[in-house]
Parts: sequence; C-alpha cells; structure tokens
Amino acid sequence: MNDAALKPQPAAFAEARAGILLPLPLKGPYDYRLSRPLARGTLVVAPLGPREALGAVWCECEGSLDDSKLKSAEVLEGAPRLPAALCDFIDWVAHYTLNPPGVVLALALRARQAFEPETMRTAYVRGRVTPSRTTAARTRVLSAVEDGLARSVSAIAEDANVTPQVVRGLIAAGALVETDLPEFAPLPAPDPDAASPTLSDEQRAAADALTAEIRAHHFSVALLDGITGSGKTETYFEAVAEALRQNRQILILMPEIALTVQFLDRFAERFGCRPAEWHSDLSQKERRRIYRAVLRGEARVVVGARSALFLPFSELGLIVVDEEHEQAYKQEDGVIYHARDMAVVRGRLEQCPVILASATPSLESYVNAASGRYLWLRLSNRHGDAVLPEIRLIDLRQTPPEPGRWISPPLEEALEMALASGEQAMLFLNRRGYAPLTLCGACGHKMVCRNCSAWLVEHRYHRKLACHHCGFEMPTPIQCPECKAEKSLVACGPGVERVAEEFARLYPEARMAIASSDTFHGPAETQAAIRAMAKREIDVLIGTQIMAKGHHFPQLTLVGVVDADLGGSDGDLRASERTFQLLHQVSGRAGRAAKPGIVLIQTRNPDDRVLKALASGDREAFFARECEERKRVHAPPFGRLAALILSSHDGEAVREAGRALARAHPAARGVTVWGPTPAFYQILRGRTRERLLVQADRAVDVQAYLRTWLERVKLPNSVRLAVDVDPVSFF
Ligand code: ADP
Ligand code: ZN
Repeated sequence: MNDAALKPQPAAFAEARAGILLPLPLKGPYDYRLSRPLARGTLVVAPLGPREALGAVWCECEGSLDDSKLKSAEVLEGAPRLPAALCDFIDWVAHYTLNPPGVVLALALRARQAFEPETMRTAYVRGRVTPSRTTAARTRVLSAVEDGLARSVSAIAEDANVTPQVVRGLIAAGALVETDLPEFAPLPAPDPDAASPTLSDEQRAAADALTAEIRAHHFSVALLDGITGSGKTETYFEAVAEALRQNRQILILMPEIALTVQFLDRFAERFGCRPAEWHSDLSQKERRRIYRAVLRGEARVVVGARSALFLPFSELGLIVVDEEHEQAYKQEDGVIYHARDMAVVRGRLEQCPVILASATPSLESYVNAASGRYLWLRLSNRHGDAVLPEIRLIDLRQTPPEPGRWISPPLEEALEMALASGEQAMLFLNRRGYAPLTLCGACGHKMVCRNCSAWLVEHRYHRKLACHHCGFEMPTPIQCPECKAEKSLVACGPGVERVAEEFARLYPEARMAIASSDTFHGPAETQAAIRAMAKREIDVLIGTQIMAKGHHFPQLTLVGVVDADLGGSDGDLRASERTFQLLHQVSGRAGRAAKPGIVLIQTRNPDDRVLKALASGDREAFFARECEERKRVHAPPFGRLAALILSSHDGEAVREAGRALARAHPAARGVTVWGPTPAFYQILRGRTRERLLVQADRAVDVQAYLRTWLERVKLPNSVRLAVDVDPVSFF
C-alpha cells in the first residue's frame, strides 16, 4: 500500500465556519456557518435542500462566500465528536478506494440515534414505608434491594426469585419507590487478571513480544503465525490484557461474528465478562448502546465484524485481526475495502500495534513477515500433548464411490472405525444445499436463475431451487420448464445436504448434524450444532466452511474432505492459496486434544501441488512456490491490481461503456489494462457486467492512475461503475 498524498487537516479551526462532510455521495465537504469555531469531527445538523442531514466538521471552508450567504449548521447537544484519527482514517479509506469521503463517513455514522440525548428508564429502590403485610416473597424482595442499587421491576423479581406481581405490590404499598436510571446499564469492564493461563515457553515468548509492543505505544504489525491448536487466542489475549492495564481500548476483528460463540465464552472465562459485540445482526437499540459506549470510552473491548473498523474509538491501543487470511474480510459491496489492510492503516493512524493471527497467513502477510516489515511470531506446537493430524489423500480414480454416491470406500471405513470407537468425525464439503445443478434428463435443460447467469442450487429439505447470488427462489418443478417432460429433472453433484443423506443411509444410528450458513432453520441452528458437537451430543458434523474456522472439538479425530477439487478451477490467481488455507483449516479441527487425528482428502488430482503440500505438511514449500508464481505474473503482493466493474440493466449500454472506458485509458509505464471482458457471472441480479483489470508495478500510484483515467470518461447514467482496488474475487 502506498501512502496517500492526503492534505493533513488541523484538529481545530479558528473560524466560526467550516467545511462539513455529510454522509452522502457528494464530491466533498460543503461550507457552512457555525455559531462558534468547532474541532474537526464535531457532529452537526446541517440543512441540505429541503432536508437536514447529520454531518461532521471536516476542514476549513473551501469557498470564499460571505458568511451571510452561508447556511448555518447546528452543533448536536453535548457536542459529540468523532476522534481526529477516525476522521483521518475516513479520508484515507476514501482516497485509497476511490470513493467520495461522505460515503465512507456513512460507514462511521451507522448508529445515528446514538447521538440523540439519552432517555431515562424507570427503576426502583427501597422506600421509607414498611409494608404492613409480610410474606416470604416480600421479605426476599426487601433483602434483595438492601444494597441500594436501582433496578427495574423484572430485575428485582429475578434477583429475589419472585413474580413481578410481588414487586408491584410492594411498589403500591410504598415500600419501593421510583427513581430514574440512564437508558443503558454500564457495560461490564473486562478484568485483565481474571484468570491468567499458564503459557507454554513459546506462547510466553510470543506474548512477551506482543506486550512489549503494547507498552511501547507505537504502531507496529505482528504476524502471529501459529499452527492450528497452538493457542494463538490465549497468546493474543495476553496483549489484550496488557492494553487493558494501560487503559486502552481494544478492537478484535473476526471474519464471521455470528459464529463466534465459542470465542465469546473463552473471552468471558479469561476476562470475567463478555466483550461488546458489533455486527450487522445487532438490534437498533444495541447498536446505539455499543456505539455510544465506544464513543465515550466505556466499551473497553469490542469484538466485531469488519464494519467495527469504523467505530469512534478514542483510546485505541490494540487491533487484533483473527484469521487474517479470511476472504470474509473483503467488503464486496458499496465501499469495497479489505478490512485486514484497513486495520493496519487504522493502527498506523492511531499509533497502536496491530496483531494479525492465522495458521495459514495470506501470502501478503507472509511476505511482509518474511521480509521483516512485520514482526513474525511463530507457534509451532499444539497446546498440551496434541499433535498435528496425519493427512492422507484418497485417489478417487483408484477407489471411487459407487455412482451417485460421494463417500469412497476408504473414507467409509475410517468413519466406521471412528464411530465404533466412540470418537467424533466431521465431513467437509464447501457447497451449500443438496445439489449445485439441476438438469433435465430428457432435453438437457439446466435450471438457471432468472436474474443471474448462475445455476440454481437445490435445497431439498425446503423443496426449492435457490440462487446463491441474488436470493431468487422457486419450488422445485415437477416437470421440465423447457420440454415439459414429467419427473425428468435430476440433481447433479453433491452439496452438504446430499452428503448428509448418504451418511444417514450408511449409519442410521449415528447422531448427525449439518452446519452450513443456510441450515434448515438459520444461523441459530448452526450455532446449536457447533455447541452440540463440542458437548459430544452428536457424532458427526457435516458442513461447509463455517466449521473450518476456529472451532475446538476435543473429541474430533477424523476429518473427511469430500471433494478437494472444488474451487481449484476458478481461474483466479488466489485459487490455490484459498484451497490450501481452507483445507488446512479444516484439517486443523482434527486431533486437537489427547487423541491423534487423521484427515482424509478425496481428490481426482492427487498430484496437485496444493494437495501434495498439504499432505506433506510442507507449508513453506507451498508459499515459496506460490511466491515464485506470483512474481512471474506480477501479481500481488509483487504487483498491484485494481478491477473496474461496470454493470447495467441495459446489456448494450454496459458493453459500449466498457469499450469507451478501455479506449480512454492513459498510457503509463508499468501499467497494463486488460479487458473489457464479460464478468464470470455475466449477469447478476439482472445487471449485465463487464470487467476491466489494471495490473501495475508496485511503484505505481494506482489511485492517481485511476483518477486520471476516470476523469476522462463520462459514463451514461444507466451504467454503474464499481472500483475494486486489490481485488480478491474475480467474478
Ligand atoms: P488456535 O487459535 O491457535 O487454533 P486455540 O487458542 O484455540 O488455538 O487453543 C487451542 C486449545 O488449547 C484451546 O482449547 C485453548 O483453550 C487451549 N490452550 C491453548 N493454550 C493454552 C494454555 N496456555 N493453557 C491452557 N489452555 C490452553
Ligand atoms: Zn440470481
């Protein structure tokens, strides 16, 4: 990443007027008059046409309009202010991703109501009156409120173990009296010394290095590179504890926050309470509560999805990016950014350490660590007596399953043994639903989405076909929509549901569950399956990549990868890296406690270098090969990429726009422009898509290049342009 040439902004302005940034796709800040000079980041309400908008004081006035001609903006009650480093971060992200700054500001103002004055709620404390009638229940209530704390009716009832009616009776009698409490109870404060573990020597060494960075109060990046089960979490918890002792705020980023139950429990064990959470499933009220708590510094530790990067921390002392290699860190809509890279940027602007943790680091981070730019902390042993599992490839050409089945004889045998000895197993297939393709046996017609050029995936339990891109669904038809043949549609290929069906037929007695992001009854069911697996209430878990990450199942000894050849043929430059990471992570679930684990990988390409590297456990050889390959084609991290994606409901307009854009590209040393070409999914959500790709040497300022280019072309209104700097997906 190159340093953007951004104009630094002073933290305070002398004049009672300023450029106000509004959370809207405008070119830049608008000038407004203020009642007094305000610091950068101060939130105001500004008139905008017939409306009013929330905005932030951003810079000195651009124009030279007379004060009398400027509209005035009003400061919010209590003058809440986005911290200066967050304002700089917003400018930086906007510059890097080629978005208007207001659009990025919108990411940081997601909880508008958080700035409204706090409402109070009713609570009760002991009154002067002693009730004439006493019962055991009433006595319990009166002793529960003796501590003098104000509580709601339901909280008192719960503490005293009585019904709310008993509490209300005492209110009526005057024994409890009303008082006001702030709308939200304060968040519990994590205690750095609640339960410190005894670390192994290598964990201790890594933890010491991390705590030294925290104490230094400066920016640095550490790659915590430890094999699966080596205790990366325990190790970076020591850094979290140190940052807490230093009275700093801590942000822990997770790729998929909805699936971090085990993590939250572990955090609570270590620090005595759960951290604050930030993700898209929060209710409005929770959102408002957490945002406010972060802004006021009351939230000390926040665990969040990528959007948590834009929270208004004022005392940030550490950012942890867990499973830093995860593709889920890439935001693919709206402002397209990579949360791992932006975490490093925010760390630099905040002058605080950043920890990237993974067992399979991204090639980018690996290269940065190997070159000494990042601190490289390695954990090469599993915690306790656990050892890494043995990994074996099953050649499906030699020992194929019967036609229409997916579990090969060697895998079946291994499952048999695991079940017979009372151990747990996991079958992994990175494909949701029952079958990825439904085809008419009579005429060959393929069932495709009506909005996308993609196959419809059968979900047999719900008796429907679904598009995984736009959400379109239809009941599975009885006859072919094309040739009208009855019952001619056949399911092709396996999804997790189909493997589960086969498994259930083989082992009707075994307790089995499916874990996939669209399991029958939603994410709660997946979480329940993960909990049940941890508690040994099920024998076999069958699932998608959801189970690959971070989970710790001590009794799991066998992992079967149903189809390792999936995803190898995307034709994108990160396909091998991704396959390696995913299969390695899945394998890492096996044998995490006393019993050794085994991983069986079914493939038709046992000579594939990725699979060979996996089986031999030779990660360094894999990275070395992958680096050579990327160097050869000037791919990241040895070169830069940016994608331009044009889309429109009008196919001809988008193709013409693609050609016009390509013709206008500036010639520059070290830059090659490819395309336009139809995107892999040529049509998504009804929009036809064309792609162009910019490939540049590392020294090239890609943002400047793109700006020059895009200023030359005026696209028709019907065509939308998305800029994806450092793309990770090429669809
Ligand atoms: P990783 O994230 O590297 O895969 P984890 O942090 O999940 O590994 O650790 C694996 C298991 O080992 C967890 O159950 C964790 O609680 C346990 N563990 C790791 N280090 C220690 C330690 N020093 N003391 C006690 N338990 C530990
Ligand atoms: Zn679709």
